[in-house]
Amino acid sequence: MTAYKDLSREELLELKSGLEARFEEVKAKGLKLDMSRGKPSAEQLNLSMGMMDVLHSGVDLICEDGVDCRNYGGLDGIAEAKQLLADMMEVPKDNVVIFGNSSLNVMYDTVARSMTHGVLGSTPWCKLDKVKFLCPVPGYDRHFAITEHFGIEMINVPMTPTGPDMDMVEKLVSEDASVKGIWCVPKYSNPQGITYSDETVYRFANLKPAAEDFRIYWDNAYCVHHLYEDKQDYLIEILSECKKAGNPDMVYKFSSTSKISFPGSGIAALAASEANLNEIRGMMKVQTIGHDKVNQLRHVRFFKDVHGIVEHMKKHADIMRPKFEAVIDVLEKELGGLEIGSWIKPLGGYFISFDAMDGCAKAIVAKAKEAGLVMTGAGATFPYGKDPHDSNIRIAPSYPTPEELAVATDIFVLSVKLVSIDKLLG
Ligand code: PLP
Repeated sequence: MTAYKDLSREELLELKSGLEARFEEVKAKGLKLDMSRGKPSAEQLNLSMGMMDVLHSGVDLICEDGVDCRNYGGLDGIAEAKQLLADMMEVPKDNVVIFGNSSLNVMYDTVARSMTHGVLGSTPWCKLDKVKFLCPVPGYDRHFAITEHFGIEMINVPMTPTGPDMDMVEKLVSEDASVKGIWCVPKYSNPQGITYSDETVYRFANLKPAAEDFRIYWDNAYCVHHLYEDKQDYLIEILSECKKAGNPDMVYKFSSTSKISFPGSGIAALAASEANLNEIRGMMKVQTIGHDKVNQLRHVRFFKDVHGIVEHMKKHADIMRPKFEAVIDVLEKELGGLEIGSWIKPLGGYFISFDAMDGCAKAIVAKAKEAGLVMTGAGATFPYGKDPHDSNIRIAPSYPTPEELAVATDIFVLSVKLVSIDKLLG
């Protein structure tokens, strides 16, 4: 394979006309394909249909400790759901509060509480002139949407293969008291599939923030979402590391069963120190009488324990793995050696992150759309939707069928080639 940059103008033009002809052929098919959002496929959702059978009028809805799930009560979750999520999140049960159907909602509420009431006695953020959050990039668009919504200034921190650039994180956190938080997806990150190294986690736990109310927003959404049984990333548990480092209150750890059972109808949890949880419970009791205990019980009766979750996730992996491999194979076969893009082959999570030549991402996404393929908007993986290099594109392979995926990846690759040639031709 010759890199495109080493081809002559004539060679590029010739290549372009062949690719354009192929593109027109695909376009004429009038396809409608979607690789934009990280949603499980129907086949994956079917794996959890047994959950609909575990609760019916013939079974009792009484919890282990006698709580009747049909009635009010149980502000912070039923005991067995706490145990299940605590085991999944690798933290003690007493450090877990169960919430409703979405962890994003919990993250939003956590920022909102800090804005209006402060954090463990600190000045409410809304009373400060400036509040800043660090945002490892590329990252999750909905995290950035929350902080943007509250007028919090977002600072890009580049991701490296071992996690965020920790030199930069340490400097900003220790020197600037207006830095109040950092968004982290520490395992199989969205969108790169990177897992933070041991050293990165230690450095997080040992941060010395200028702000006493600085918090790490540790969104472990993909904690059990491996693609392989024999090749898995391992992430050190942050809550206990923070405790060991003398920073027990510095982290909020979020997770949910969204991409384990039913997204939007799963259960979400927050793990944190006792002091943090007590403060949060105090505000929760004003907000709600309690979350959906029937759904919590349904999850526990279906999965039984964390081993049930692990076994269940192997079935998800069997569906997801061929899709990821299909995309990676096409990328390697079609783009390998051309030096017009790079990508990371993840061992888990929901996404493949693609970096095009600078200045090409928006045009590639637009080109793919012409042929009926919807991708995540270019720029979405950066705060304010602004990718300074206009380079990153998030590929979400989970939702389409394998057949659709093959066609979709072909369209993507054709779009990358055509846009890159235009860029090189100037
Ligand atoms: N966190 C990350 C990193 C995600 O990628 C997603 C969904 O894509 C979520 C949270 C959403 O989780 P939930 O459905 O629990 O709100």
